[in-house]
Amino acid sequence: TYYPQSGSLVILGAGESGVGTAILGKEKGYDVFVSDKGLIADHYKEQLKAEGIAYEEGNHDEVRILNAALVVKSPGIPETVPLVVALKEKGIPVIAEIEFAAQYTTAKLICITGSNGKSTTTMLTYEMLKHGGLNVGLAGNIGKSFALQVARENFDCYVLEISSFMLDDMYHFRADIAVILNITPDHLDRYDHKMENYVDSKFRMIQNQTEKDYFIYCLDDPETIKGLERHHSKGTYLPFTQEQLVELGAYLTANKTMIINTPNNDTFTMRTEELSLQGKHNIYNSMASGLIAKVQELRNQAMKESMGSYVNIPHRLEHVACIGGVNYINDSKATNVNSVWYALESFSTPIVLLLGGVDKGNDYSMLTDLVKDKVRAIVCLGKDTAAIHKAFEQDVEIIVNSTSMHDAVVLSSHLAKKGDTVLLSPACASFDWFKNYEDRGDKFKAAVMEL
Ligand code: ADP
Repeated sequence: TYYPQSGSLVILGAGESGVGTAILGKEKGYDVFVSDKGLIADHYKEQLKAEGIAYEEGNHDEVRILNAALVVKSPGIPETVPLVVALKEKGIPVIAEIEFAAQYTTAKLICITGSNGKSTTTMLTYEMLKHGGLNVGLAGNIGKSFALQVARENFDCYVLEISSFMLDDMYHFRADIAVILNITPDHLDRYDHKMENYVDSKFRMIQNQTEKDYFIYCLDDPETIKGLERHHSKGTYLPFTQEQLVELGAYLTANKTMIINTPNNDTFTMRTEELSLQGKHNIYNSMASGLIAKVQELRNQAMKESMGSYVNIPHRLEHVACIGGVNYINDSKATNVNSVWYALESFSTPIVLLLGGVDKGNDYSMLTDLVKDKVRAIVCLGKDTAAIHKAFEQDVEIIVNSTSMHDAVVLSSHLAKKGDTVLLSPACASFDWFKNYEDRGDKFKAAVMEL
């Protein structure tokens, strides 16, 4: 192991991952202290009390924290906050929950990252492996804390959804199967506004892989391919593509059949129209999941059953209702421009698009052609709508602001004609009007149901 195995373990941020880490750390014999600058949710406080773990909220006790042997930091806390800078200056290791907990398990780790499609691919993979009879856990950015499961469960393998913020605090971690779905601009504010830094962060996923590991990636993704000039995995490369043929990996035939070939396994084939997840982006997600399942030696029959029946988690191109011949779609999870591109690409009807929120420095130019082609009107959400007006004033006749989600939905229902699609796919974070993207999607659905 690479880190101090005893002494003071400080955990910064008392969310799902922080509390789980605290419990695992205590079990491993550390003197654990949890510190959260904000308020800690009541159920987490109860859990910490029940385990006899010390904590503080609304404050960081800097003296205590700067005397830690090891610090586990929530991915939400930027590297640049003075406390983290001070810790690093003192040479105290600051690591992610996954880095910490992975030391204490021999389970196989299947790790999925990417700018978009992480949750969808993680859930599909998890459901498929479970259906195929594996003793599999689900963790990372999703569900229960990985650390807590390492402490309390006995899974043979885990499917982990991994964000770039987690990867930034991972150094010795090794993924048995590493997946990079795609890399498109997102969160650049945390990467000095340099795409290269963000790409490098994603590639930390493969940094310690060995010959017996696998690296699954998208051959059609330009940033991934560029990143491969600087980064290398020792594992087996399994690319997926919709644009060419590959011997090993996944590709599409001319008649839209997905073909998956992995070393020492039989070929898997499935027609894309049989996939329950539709849209070009979901073919990519299904390919990545299928490659994982095949490497895990799942039977083709089990894979087909899962990929043909999987129901996606809410807020991803979720069909809400058809009212007066207009379909209402909730894609609240589309928090960056690239996911909106795939959303627009998925529909052939005219679209009334609900766009906007907290802008992360969006460049909307990649949407121009699709918007010109398909978007009848844009209804803006959120406080700051100037960038949206500016980006699309040449291409869309009607761009209106709204005052609330309810207002936006009512406006859309007036602007949409029979046969149209009203699409909430905001390209922005939600924190100005909503608690989070789930809240935004729920308010959209509620407003639609009131129509
Ligand atoms: P993540 O967990 O990476 O945010 P999700 O699976 O929650 O990804 O999907 C987020 C958004 O991105 C949704 O709007 C979804 O429709 C879109 N999306 C899903 N998969 C992809 C993909 N492979 N490429 C681009 N966009 C995608």
